[in-house]
Amino acid sequence: MVIETKGDASTLPCEVCGKTVPVGQVGGLAVNPHEANRIREKNRKWRAENPGVTRVSDFPRYETAHWEWGHWKCQDDSTWYYIDSQRLQNPKQALGWTLHLMGKHWLLYTDWQAMMWKLGFAVHP
Ligand SMILES: [Zn+2]
Repeated sequence: MVIETKGDASTLPCEVCGKTVPVGQVGGLAVNPHEANRIREKNRKWRAENPGVTRVSDFPRYETAHWEWGHWKCQDDSTWYYIDSQRLQNPKQALGWTLHLMGKHWLLYTDWQAMMWKLGFAVHP
């Protein structure tokens, strides 16, 4: 397996103000796990109401809770699970966070994978 970084997270602009997010306790990724849980419950309810549907292509396209990249001061108060940018600087840290978050039942209902790509982390098995 090859883990590489193609980009540099420090050059990715804040999604709110558009300015770069310097490393060091001023910003990073944030998500609202309650939103992810709401989507998870919606998914569970749909599957309970549609037991005969087995083809993935027939499933509705699920929305995901967004991991927002930005300054803490810019982010919405509804986000409350935070990862400081200085703790997400290299592939080893990204893998560590991914393994940690896999223990959260709400992870699959967020756009974590897309954000890892956006931050420049690429994995090639
Ligand atoms: Zn900002």
